[in-house]
Amino acid sequence: MKPKRVVVLTGAGISAESGVRTFRDNDGLWENHRIEEVATPEAWAADPEKVWRFYQERRRQMNEVEPNPAHIALARLQREREGTVLITQNVDDLHERGGSEDVHHMHGQLLTLRCEVSGRSEQRMDDASLGDDFAFCNCCSSPKRMRPDVVWFGEMPIGMEMIYDAVLQCDVFLVVGSSGHVYPAAGLVRAAKEAGAHTVLVNAEPPTNVEAFDEVHLGAAGELLPGLVDSWLNEMN
Ligand code: NAD
Repeated sequence: MKPKRVVVLTGAGISAESGVRTFRDNDGLWENHRIEEVATPEAWAADPEKVWRFYQERRRQMNEVEPNPAHIALARLQREREGTVLITQNVDDLHERGGSEDVHHMHGQLLTLRCEVSGRSEQRMDDASLGDDFAFCNCCSSPKRMRPDVVWFGEMPIGMEMIYDAVLQCDVFLVVGSSGHVYPAAGLVRAAKEAGAHTVLVNAEPPTNVEAFDEVHLGAAGELLPGLVDSWLNEMN
């Protein structure tokens, strides 16, 4: 039998059981902030201190959270099903800490900061880089201010060409913990389905694009995924 090519897309919901809050609470706020106040280039231009403090809190939180069984189950899927592509909308590093070696962060990462002038990223999780004062780069002759290394609303996600290539060629497209609100990520399931993939969802509640899924598992990812991965690996091997 032809080996099945699997592509996985994760969203904030997979990290919820690790204690990282998801994007949208019922009131439409992210950690008590309106999205436009903290997650757009305009917000950074208008009030960089506020945006910086918001992301520095998210970055400091990375030292307090641990991967949960859902991250660990996907790492197992990647290990045992060679060629599995893992794409995440998440900016945390819980997939890597759960054992995944190859993770594509389409919306950037919290662990790194980016020089505003050269655009180069640096891993900066030392104590001195986690405070409320701005951090400055090591790449320019006179150090320049750094920005969060994340993709804000209105900016282009990273590696869309590679993502579409993988999505359009896969046999199984699995989405975990994503509300289907944030595009272009939310449109990938329809692209996969139109290209002939079997589409699978694991989410706490039906997302806005639920009709695009062939198979829907509603519940907590950390509870459902270990068993689902076990049964998928048995089926595919
Ligand atoms: P979202 O917050 O819009 O939606 C999360 C979805 O996960 C919801 O549909 C919710 O029902 C579901 N969910 C909640 N708990 C769950 C659980 N235990 N198991 C399974 N599903 C669960 O997330 P999104 O669609 O990823 O869009 C959010 C954007 O915000 C992303 O682009 C991301 O970059 C950013 N973000 C990232 C993080 C992170 O890195 N952990 C956290 C918040 C926001």
